[in-house]
Amino acid sequence: MNPLIPNRSGFSRGFFWFITIFLGLTLLYNLAVSTRVERENITLSELSQAVQEGKVERLAIKGNTIEGAFKDNRNFRTYKEADTSIAEYGITPDKVSIDVENPDKGSLLPTLLTVILPFLLLGGFIWFMFRSAQGANMRAMSFGKSTARLVNPASNRITFADVAGLAEPKFELSEVVEFLKSPEKFRALGAEIPKGVLLIGPPGTGKTLLAKAVAGEAGVPFFSISASEFVEMFVGVGAARVRDLFQKAKRNAPAILFIDELDAIGRMRGSGLGGSHDEREQTLNQILVEMDGFETDSRVIVMAATNRPDVLDSALLRPGRFDRRVVIDLPDKNERADILRIHTVKKPLASNVDLQKVAASSAGFSGADLKNMANEAAILTARAGRKQITTKDLTEAVEKVMMGPERRSRVLSEQEKVITATHELGHAIVGHMLEHCDPVHKISIISRGTALGYTWSLPSEDRRLITRDKFNDELAQMLGGRAAEKLILNQYSTGAQNDLGQATKIARDMVRLYGMSERIGPVALGGREEMVFLGRELGEHTHYSERVAAIVDEEVRALIEAAQARALVVLRKHRTALARLTTRLLKEEVLDGGALDEVLKHKKPKK
Ligand code: ADP
Ligand code: MG
Ligand code: ZN
Repeated sequence: MNPLIPNRSGFSRGFFWFITIFLGLTLLYNLAVSTRVERENITLSELSQAVQEGKVERLAIKGNTIEGAFKDNRNFRTYKEADTSIAEYGITPDKVSIDVENPDKGSLLPTLLTVILPFLLLGGFIWFMFRSAQGANMRAMSFGKSTARLVNPASNRITFADVAGLAEPKFELSEVVEFLKSPEKFRALGAEIPKGVLLIGPPGTGKTLLAKAVAGEAGVPFFSISASEFVEMFVGVGAARVRDLFQKAKRNAPAILFIDELDAIGRMRGSGLGGSHDEREQTLNQILVEMDGFETDSRVIVMAATNRPDVLDSALLRPGRFDRRVVIDLPDKNERADILRIHTVKKPLASNVDLQKVAASSAGFSGADLKNMANEAAILTARAGRKQITTKDLTEAVEKVMMGPERRSRVLSEQEKVITATHELGHAIVGHMLEHCDPVHKISIISRGTALGYTWSLPSEDRRLITRDKFNDELAQMLGGRAAEKLILNQYSTGAQNDLGQATKIARDMVRLYGMSERIGPVALGGREEMVFLGRELGEHTHYSERVAAIVDEEVRALIEAAQARALVVLRKHRTALARLTTRLLKEEVLDGGALDEVLKHKKPKK
């Protein structure tokens, strides 16, 4: 039973008792009625004869039923016609004692039950309906109350020590902590601490965690609510909830008020296409009003988190509101190792596990991914019945989180296997030979997730800038799979769909956003202005002419065709290596990067 829904569970529990009691009563009644003596059924004439012979002790007449006992203690029952007297059968009081019962008396209990029970049932039903309706009423009355959860600093304390990496965000936020602890220090200098702190970063990078850590460090109450909880079915609820939430926080000052996923209500006003934007606007306005209304000494700090700062209303970002912005990035290699360390404290690692190496193989993972990964590794180990988590379990978990679980049960036909092996080796060989591609770590034709096979490249460093050369090499690698299929099998398959989609997206971005096409030149076309409908991107506005659009298409095509040509050049040159590796991959199903070094006699230069 869910304790979070007291009304419903209260209702069902009450109903359960009602039914139980009802069933109990029915059972009791049945028992009472059925505790009858064993009786022998005889005919009226048999009775008449027995009476004549003086064998009958006594009898009782209940309506048309005659019950009685013989002298030898056997009980009997028989029936007579209505409105006839037993005297007609020669049964008279001088031969046997006769008792005539009031016909209504015996059936009093059943009558009572049949009359009263329906009422009881109906009454009970109405009562429960009423009660649940009242519950709904109560809920309606409390709509305006915010549903924020209060995390008490005393229990469940999270501190900065639980957050790995993120040195700069922590530093910024420690100022907030300082202020909550000793505001006098700042006020003596006339400094005003920002009222609002906005945490910006991709999903799973620890924004929520960091906000909790601030509350834990400062030791103040922490009110947490997700922005989507402001919005309900009824108009006006959001604004009422905002008011209530701020009041609660003020009453508990010093306190931190945390609004998660702020973009759910903080989107630019007037940009909504759906009908709900009016409500969202009101809610947003109320937040702005409340933040302005804070007295400077109220010591309530509003923190909010979002992964879409680009869609936030500019009014939210004005000074005096969320004027302090803390950017949280995906963790780099060292930070990933630190995060892994935190999430493996309670897990028994084999002594030779190198978390740094695992961190290196999980480029692009967020903190949440890493946590998930550490958990997967523990599950894998437990399933294998081992007591310690090894590096192999961890890398297996990385692959699982990255590409979905292995699907060994999906059997590929021989032909599919050949196509997949050729395709993947096309990626691998191009990736291995081109200078700017990441080193190939593993090639597999065991299905994973939705992919039939995969080539796994590992970036040797975390990259912030990507050059045009790198993009070009990567495009060539993406097209290598399809190029190999064409070269070796003289055939195209659907296996390249994903590659083509990705390659086209990169090429479009190169041309439109990064100014990497000489013909388009240093202008950004389009950009990130999206039309938003129900939180989904519908399309993008274009701010350029049909003519330029045509040039963009030509340039994108040129980039991709050049990439394909380069991939083909590499593959033609290493055709024999491709054939040998294909045979090996078909036999072994998985190859590591070392196999490429061996067969291609080319070691990728380390950067
Ligand atoms: P966000 O709010 O940014 O989407 P969360 O704060 O909810 O992400 O992070 C999800 C989980 O990932 C956290 O509960 C935590 O276990 C883990 N995590 C994320 N970043 C870190 C980090 N820097 N250090 C430790 N754990 C982290
Ligand atoms: Mg979050
Ligand atoms: Zn591919």
